[in-house]
Amino acid sequence: MSSDPLRPDELASILRNVADGITAQAPDGRLVYANDAAAQLCGLASAEEMLSLSGAELLERFELIGEDGQPLPVAELPSRRVLQERTTQDAVVGYRLLPGGDERWSIVRSTPILDDTGALRLVITVFHDITHQRHAEEQIRFLAQTGTLFSAGLDYAATLAELAALLVPRLADYCIVDVIEEESGSLRQVVISHRDPEREQILRELRQRYPPEQNEAHPVTEVLRTGEPYLVEDARDAALTRAAVDEEHLALYQALEATSYIVVPLESRGRLLGTISLGTGESGRRFGPLDLDLAREIGRRAALAIENALLFRAASDSYAQLDTLLVSAPVGIGFWDRELRFVRVNEALAQLNRQTPEEHIGRTLAEVIPHLAPHLEPLYRRVLETGEPVVHEESTDETIAGPGDARHWLSSYYPVRGDDGETSGIGGVIMEITGQRRADARLRLLAEAGELFSSSLEREEILQRIAHVVVPRIADACNIYLAHGDALDRVAYAHAEPERELLMAEMPNRYVVGPDAPPLLRQVIVSGEPLLASTLDPDLLQALEEIGLDRGAFDRVGSHSMMFVPFVSRGVTLGVITLGAREAGRYTDYDLELVRELAGRASAALDNARLVGELRRRAQAAEALEFVGDGVFLVDGDGVVRLWNPAAVRITGFREEEIVDSQAERALAGWPLGQGARAQTFPVDGPHGELWLSLTAAEFPNGTVYAFRDLTDERAVEQLKSDFVSTVSHELRTPLAAIYGAAMTLQRGDVELNDAQEAGMLDVISGESERLARIVNDILLASRLDSGAATVEISRTDAAGLARGVLAAAEAHLPPGVELALAVPEPGPQVAADPDGLRQVLVNLVENAVKYSPEGGLVELEVAPVDGRVRFTVRDRGLGIPASDHDRIFEKFFRIDPNLSRGVGGTGLGLYISSEIVRRMGGRIDVESELGRGSTFSFELPRA
Ligand code: ADP
Repeated sequence: MSSDPLRPDELASILRNVADGITAQAPDGRLVYANDAAAQLCGLASAEEMLSLSGAELLERFELIGEDGQPLPVAELPSRRVLQERTTQDAVVGYRLLPGGDERWSIVRSTPILDDTGALRLVITVFHDITHQRHAEEQIRFLAQTGTLFSAGLDYAATLAELAALLVPRLADYCIVDVIEEESGSLRQVVISHRDPEREQILRELRQRYPPEQNEAHPVTEVLRTGEPYLVEDARDAALTRAAVDEEHLALYQALEATSYIVVPLESRGRLLGTISLGTGESGRRFGPLDLDLAREIGRRAALAIENALLFRAASDSYAQLDTLLVSAPVGIGFWDRELRFVRVNEALAQLNRQTPEEHIGRTLAEVIPHLAPHLEPLYRRVLETGEPVVHEESTDETIAGPGDARHWLSSYYPVRGDDGETSGIGGVIMEITGQRRADARLRLLAEAGELFSSSLEREEILQRIAHVVVPRIADACNIYLAHGDALDRVAYAHAEPERELLMAEMPNRYVVGPDAPPLLRQVIVSGEPLLASTLDPDLLQALEEIGLDRGAFDRVGSHSMMFVPFVSRGVTLGVITLGAREAGRYTDYDLELVRELAGRASAALDNARLVGELRRRAQAAEALEFVGDGVFLVDGDGVVRLWNPAAVRITGFREEEIVDSQAERALAGWPLGQGARAQTFPVDGPHGELWLSLTAAEFPNGTVYAFRDLTDERAVEQLKSDFVSTVSHELRTPLAAIYGAAMTLQRGDVELNDAQEAGMLDVISGESERLARIVNDILLASRLDSGAATVEISRTDAAGLARGVLAAAEAHLPPGVELALAVPEPGPQVAADPDGLRQVLVNLVENAVKYSPEGGLVELEVAPVDGRVRFTVRDRGLGIPASDHDRIFEKFFRIDPNLSRGVGGTGLGLYISSEIVRRMGGRIDVESELGRGSTFSFELPRA
């Protein structure tokens, strides 16, 4: 050793206290000296402890790592190399302490100490700890790498995957990146990476079965909640058990050998985008605060990268959208520079200006759209000068002036600023709203017309108003004609200029568009086809002249574009509206459509007017039908009854609701419907018996109107007449024949008659003459009763006496088998009656009783006082009368069916006369009778 100013103890004290580790080794590798710093570098508490270990024991304590990060063979250590080289050796050596995994780095310098012979005596090694520097360097390197990574990609999922590849296995055994989905706010596992593919599966399973969002205590959830990073330096015992939800969870952690754990937030500008989780397992490595710092930094950078990627995506999306919008937007979009030159225009704007986009570029407003420039330039300049946008400016181009033909735009202009904030030009959004404006105007016109139509229902007035709706808005001139067959009669006209309206007044009011008329015009009326004459060609003018147009006047009115639009309702042309405009080419299909619609509405209004008129007339007719005495009903084309007037109800007894809306065939079964116009007489069952109706029919386009009249009374008179003739002739013939026969016999000279025979003949003659006289008397009496000539004279009459006389008379020619009985009280009551009349009634009733008892039997006549009246009853045990005839036997000439009356003769006048007389005396004859059981006739008269 060379002379040294320091004493060995002094040197030892210095060496012990330096921060660098110092060791001295014998040539056999045995450690002969170590200071405390060296011991600490090896994870040992003291130099003494270190010195107590053998070289091999010492080497087992850590894993050596070379500068390149790869395991370093022991022979590569500077102290070993010195043994070979015998010169000072340097190296950067990493020591990963086993089993904890704490990694420390040192610059190691080993120096040989040679003795005088040059033999190696000692190897002095100095360890200068560079763990911090190393970390910092590594971080910087690492961050530099990530930096390029983050700036390279804008697909953040791919970037994060690459980040994971950088981190695993260098920094961690596994890495998971979770990102919060922007839309849903839920956590999405973007990256999951483990150095060992098998363990990666375990990790995936772990994550799938125990997702962090379902575990409040999960570090990821914790970090997302607090925004603070999370470090578990040694997870092996308590921490794992705490983090595990259940046994299986714990088992999975253990399968991963989960050791140390870091979760850092992905945070950018105060916004949490997700987390990065780093874990160690099989490496046994433990994270410390330095790793946490690095991870935080990585997290910050990654978050920024993610945000940039998102922003870029949004920006590029919107840029792409913007560009698509610019190109394909249905609105015009343009940019102008400060000189008002077109810089960019989209297709829509180019079309609005009726030029190609290319034709715009570099040219000024005044060059491209000279007619609009005077209006637009001041506007643009204002935007440039004030930097204020102009929003929703409406402009109109009336260069093609004509009624309703202007073009309209709605525009917004805004300043475009350069990077320096200076206004570098103008952007504009221009929308053509001509269509909307026209549609608006059109709607307004139609609405106005609709209002007119609804406010007036007079035809002429409707048409007058249409003329003034269309002039001047869509026409300069308008004529409206109504069709009457082939003739068109003008009902309205209007012109925008009063002088020309006067000219129009002088033009013909009627045109005839007959079969010979030019087809061009004829079809307007016949097929209801509108005619658009955008310009007036010679053919049209000639056609108009052919139907009588005065060319001179027409030219002075000055229409050069015309439309002829018919009013058509239900296939019928009601009229025509003609519209004229001064400018040739003014009218297009668009205008024609509008006028067609207007005409359609007018037709509907005209139709309504007609219907209202018709309804009024019908209402009047219907009212009349209410009052006519004849039954009237209407059957429509479908055979349904549509009308049934009150007289029809009254006559037939059928109520309106029973008949109307029913099929006539069913409701009026048995009526001779549909048999032409000739009156049909037919019987039907009426409410009070048989009715005789006379029905006439009149066809009309939609059905048939029937009228009927009740002929029952007339029919009855007719019947009576014929009944009379047949009955009376029969009844007269019998006695006349007898008288004639007897008289002839008496007259004959060849027949010798004895006195008795002669007397017999004379009896016949007188008897039958009497019968004849009675018949004639009955007829006369009936007719006098009918005419009112027969009167009764009421007096106090002895009812009993009168009854006795009647029976006595009947007794005179009583047929065999018949017995008469009289029942009268004593003293007999006095009645107020016409004695002749009363006698006649009793005679009739008793005669009938006898006559209709052909088998004989008792005939009783009873006179009995009843409550201040006297009741007369004639009772027989004869044929009887069917109940259905009880009313009718009192009718004139009515006789029961001869089969029921065994051919007993009679005129059918007796009961009629009797009932009329009794009625005149203030009573009424009643009948009670049963067929085969006899009859009882009775009546009451006041007592006198
Ligand atoms: P006639 O001359 O036919 O008897 P009437 O007016 O007296 O005419 O009677 C009308 C009809 O009433 C008769 O035809 C007969 O059929 C019926 N009749 C009247 N009285 C009787 C009676 N007592 N019994 C049965 N039938 C009667």
